[in-house]
Amino acid sequence: SVPVLTIDGPSGSGKGTISRIVAARLGWHYLDSGALYRAVGIAAGWSDIDLSDASALVRCTFDTHVEFRDDGAGEPRVIVNGTDATDELRTETAGAAASAIAAIPEVRAALKERQRAFRQPPGLVADGRDMGTVIFPDAAHKVFLTASAEERAERRYKQLKAKGVSVTIDGLLREILARDARDASRAVAPLRPASDAVPIDTTGLPIEAVVARVLDIVSR
Ligand code: C5P
Repeated sequence: SVPVLTIDGPSGSGKGTISRIVAARLGWHYLDSGALYRAVGIAAGWSDIDLSDASALVRCTFDTHVEFRDDGAGEPRVIVNGTDATDELRTETAGAAASAIAAIPEVRAALKERQRAFRQPPGLVADGRDMGTVIFPDAAHKVFLTASAEERAERRYKQLKAKGVSVTIDGLLREILARDARDASRAVAPLRPASDAVPIDTTGLPIEAVVARVLDIVSR
């Protein structure tokens, strides 16, 4: 069957950056599952759906069309219901909305098959929270990335600042810790490493060093 590498971890652990680079090196497809949750979160906002209205959110999940457009140059564009939402998706507002809707079991169920459909030859790198535990439990390679909360807030800060978004490190740190607490304590698919995942603490590690470790795990 088609090989899968799952890369799970909390926000700012470096999952996105590492997954994209590793996928490019291997020539494998890339699934940014967080972008799916974020897309549903912002689409709900566009439609003025209340984040506490579970049945409307489930309908919104089925109605939200998400397309990843990779022109090979830079980061892939994410098109939500026909609109390029790449920049809006990266905001902490979208992250918080994603985290709220991600706690609804029917929303997670509705996204399950859509995520599995990314498993195409020659291989898939799947980035998220439950890739190794729920979506691809049979994956041949599993990694769990962590980093200190301070370093994760700093990375997000740099990412957002480069995009011209005005935020403070302290504000981001508070938001990230609140989101982590919610993701870890929710009843459905709480963030935890798969029992067979290799943990990597990326605090203080350069990107290239993490990429090398992950590629080493895949080649074993
Ligand atoms: O990874 P990212 O920060 O883009 O994810 C945004 C939110 O979506 C997370 O805080 C989490 O609540 C949710 N999520 C999830 N399962 C995934 C990916 C993301 O619950 N596989």
